[in-house]
Amino acid sequence: MSHTYVVVAEVRGGGLRQVSLEALQAVSLIKEEGDSVAAVIIGSQITPLADELARYVLGQVYSVDHPDLENYNPETYFSVLSSILSKLNPSAVIFGHTAVGRDLAPMVAAHLDAGQISDVTAIDSEGNDLLFMRPLYAGKAFEQKKFVNTPQVITIRPNNISPAEVASTPADIIEIDYSPTSNLRSIVKDVIRKTSGKVDLTEAKIIVSGGRGVKSTEGFKPLEELAEVLHGAVGASRAACDAGYCDYSMQIGQTGKVVTPEIYIACGISGAIQHMAGMSQSHVIIAINKDPEAPIFKVADYGIVGDLFEVVPLLTEEFRKV
Ligand code: FAD
Repeated sequence: MSHTYVVVAEVRGGGLRQVSLEALQAVSLIKEEGDSVAAVIIGSQITPLADELARYVLGQVYSVDHPDLENYNPETYFSVLSSILSKLNPSAVIFGHTAVGRDLAPMVAAHLDAGQISDVTAIDSEGNDLLFMRPLYAGKAFEQKKFVNTPQVITIRPNNISPAEVASTPADIIEIDYSPTSNLRSIVKDVIRKTSGKVDLTEAKIIVSGGRGVKSTEGFKPLEELAEVLHGAVGASRAACDAGYCDYSMQIGQTGKVVTPEIYIACGISGAIQHMAGMSQSHVIIAINKDPEAPIFKVADYGIVGDLFEVVPLLTEEFRKV
């Protein structure tokens, strides 16, 4: 029996989210020959993004393009998505483990009467079984789960599965009409973004993060310069946010964002357990701290004992030469 897999792609800041391509790659780890793949993209003025997505999908791209869909609203997005899924009758629906994916996935799971495995970081096989790895207890343990039936709903943690490569033949794009409804319970009037950075924190390959040691809003400037040179994003500890040095949207940790960049540079961060909960899965951790006993050095792959205000500008200067 052949299966249909559906990836729900996401638009952010006028671009296609990287995690959507990672979700497509997850499908290639799950699917077998003869199975079909579709992707759904919802938004406003998304024709170029649907075209871009189609380059990575071996199947169909369902594009729902309407001014009323510019901002994510669970009611509108769910109604559009559920009507497409009802026609496709998928075996699995895959989302990015993002704010939108975390919101929509359980609604879709309930609608399809599906099981859900969330925040997947790796997919392995054992015999005929597919095993989905996910972190537990803020990354201190992992569990492997498997589905016992279909349909299935999966969310993929950003930056853990490599993105899909361009497919041999681009997908067909199927445009779906959207008729606005007047009986919505709520509408999104506007989205006021607080993140100033050009690179999304959860998808950034490199994060330069500052803690209480940064001492002020001004103190974040050298970190911003380093992040810019490295095409990365700037994050922060809760202590830095609490002190008003930066916005809470930059907070990484147990009560902030969970990130898995290729390189995490912690500047003036002690390494409290609640901070590590959000960054300990980073592939390479570099810590800059003037206290050689700081706990962050226990998880760091590379440690620099020194004053961040001396070390960070030196790093920026060196990377500028590359
Ligand atoms: P500190 O612990 O004060 O460390 C500052 C570090 O900077 C020190 O190690 C010092 O040696 C170094 N330093 C100072 N000056 C310099 C310099 N010039 N150059 C180099 N190094 C320097 N925290 C989070 O980050 N994220 C969370 O999501 C989070 N959630 C929490 C949830 C709960 C329920 C609780 C109770 C706490 C939470 N915390 C969280 C707070 C956490 O416990 C720590 O208080 C916080 O992470 C400390 O931040 P910090 O490392 O920046 O500050």
